[in-house]
Amino acid sequence: MAGKVNIIGLESTAYRGAKTTLCAGCGHNSITERIIDSFFELGIQPTDVIKLSGIGCSSKSPAYFLNQSHGFNSVHGRMPSLATGAVVANRKMIAIGISGDGDTGAIGIGQFVHLMRRNLPIVYVIEDNGCYGLTKGQFSPTADLGSTLKTGVINDLPPIDTCALAVELGASFVARSFSGDPKQLKAILKAALSHRGTSMIDVLSPCVTFNDHEGSTKSYAYVKDHDEPMSEVGFVPYFEDISVEYDPGTTTQVTLHNGSKIVLTKMAEDYAPTDKIKALQVLHETARRGEYATGVLYIEPNKQDFVDMLGIVDEPLAFLDQSKVRPGKHVLDEIVESFR
Ligand code: SF4
Repeated sequence: MAGKVNIIGLESTAYRGAKTTLCAGCGHNSITERIIDSFFELGIQPTDVIKLSGIGCSSKSPAYFLNQSHGFNSVHGRMPSLATGAVVANRKMIAIGISGDGDTGAIGIGQFVHLMRRNLPIVYVIEDNGCYGLTKGQFSPTADLGSTLKTGVINDLPPIDTCALAVELGASFVARSFSGDPKQLKAILKAALSHRGTSMIDVLSPCVTFNDHEGSTKSYAYVKDHDEPMSEVGFVPYFEDISVEYDPGTTTQVTLHNGSKIVLTKMAEDYAPTDKIKALQVLHETARRGEYATGVLYIEPNKQDFVDMLGIVDEPLAFLDQSKVRPGKHVLDEIVESFR
């Protein structure tokens, strides 16, 4: 019997990748499943996608979804440069980058900073478990002050909050979610894929092998107990009827690049996801209480993205005729002459 197909006639199997080699129960596997669901439900053509990653358990994940798409596994922390080159060379590509808290917050922090301030069109997912799972669970830069390793060693450094950094630096879509909350994570991923600009999603994703014990603030139990949702996230794609019933006094609708809507039903008083200062305030206040603010934390739907800012032609550079990309010496001579 034929399986269910999406709006472009593909079955969900067209969005799967290789069988995972990560540990059973690893949060990263749940994120992979939500990525597969999101691309399938949005009817995105897999061959229009480029998936990129760095190094770490998280960065192995792109092998487990969208096996018909383009892919590049970079050296540690250098995925943003590759993503920038790929998206500028072919602006029609839909880019998704998978990184980890070490890949982003330590060796890749310089690249992360510049990616966020450029607003490159990419969905950038951090699979955040607060440790280096691939090298036996040492603290990463997102580990909380006072949290412990399995061995009892206490972390005496404060964490980097990647969401606060992204908001501050200029990312136009910033969210936090939890691999154990499939409904929220899928809605956020679908909204991020419909946004044009940098969508930065920090997903708390417990490492069951090295960081799921008492004393960890990135364990399943801790995150479940300290999750502070800012809003209930709903997503209505552009091809579906928008007349969904929401109480107008408690919801905010934001129209995304492709006409899809993200519907945020407020759970926290006075929270407006388009208010940058408020987003930073909420992130600082929840962190001080040892809680995680989750949901869409900040969104600026109409901010100019990096490719538009460069003013490059609509046709992907990768497909331009040689006569256009290598115009010849006489053109250079004319330019030089114009400055005399
Ligand atoms: Fe996941 Fe940790 Fe296993 Fe790596 S070591 S695959 S992060 S559970």
